[in-house]
Amino acid sequence: MKVIREPAELRGYLRETRAAGHRIALVPTMGCLHEGHLSLLREGRKRGDVLVLSIFVNPLQFGPQEDFSRYPRAEARDLEQAELVGTDIAYLPAPETMYGSGFQTKVDVQQVSQGLCGARRPGHFVGVATVVLKLFHQVEPHVAVFGQKDYQQLQVIRRMVQDLDLDIEVVGMPIVREPDGLAMSSRNSYLSSDERSRAVALSRGLFAARDLYARGERRAAHLVATARAVIDEAGLRIDYLELCETDTLESVSRAHGSCALLAAVYAGTTRLIDNLVLTPPAP
Ligand code: AMP
Repeated sequence: MKVIREPAELRGYLRETRAAGHRIALVPTMGCLHEGHLSLLREGRKRGDVLVLSIFVNPLQFGPQEDFSRYPRAEARDLEQAELVGTDIAYLPAPETMYGSGFQTKVDVQQVSQGLCGARRPGHFVGVATVVLKLFHQVEPHVAVFGQKDYQQLQVIRRMVQDLDLDIEVVGMPIVREPDGLAMSSRNSYLSSDERSRAVALSRGLFAARDLYARGERRAAHLVATARAVIDEAGLRIDYLELCETDTLESVSRAHGSCALLAAVYAGTTRLIDNLVLTPPAP
């Protein structure tokens, strides 16, 4: 595995790869890799001849009061794990490299960024879309793999790719969970043992709503109330809990066809997100 930190070196290396007719797969991450990230890398490995992992804790997507400076970093361990799953290139640009002096261009994917995390984290998705577009230009992948864990992010990126005519296949992969159901996240390392045991109520609440949906309930208020009861009971503070249309993420009052139930909660000061796509049974 090659470790590259400079865009010019990356470009030079990938130019030869592309000229040789090889397919390039990109998995963008902020590092501190866990099984969720590794599942994306394994998928990327299958879909590309050359697998590029990017690790970049992107300052542009963190608010001033958020956890940018304490976000977990584990470079040596990440590189070992990346190599084990067959990564060809680990790309780790420095913030100064990504955002040189005078940097002033940002990408704003509008409606789909507005609700949910976008409403609670102003500027977050502008930061995400900007860095992902930069990574797309630096790597020029044929395919890019993202997790459905960050469901709204995935829809923002799909919209950007469509709107800006990028010739990149975007693949969304299922959420990888801990055995008890908690969605894996680098931020789970912030949880105390008490918070960790209560955090499982987030996924349990969503699963309870899914069970109700499977029994035929389609009213958003009832699905949300069921999830809310489980989450409240565990003493987690709900930031949002909404039933939305799967692509546009517009809030719906009733599930017509597939829809997504999305939630963000606080366990202590740690903010956790999770979601489930509810799909009607095949006729
Ligand atoms: P992050 O490092 O948190 O920015 O995540 C990098 C990529 O990994 C994003 O596409 C995430 O959606 C994805 N990811 C994070 N956690 C999980 C998970 N538990 N299951 C699947 N994908 C995940």
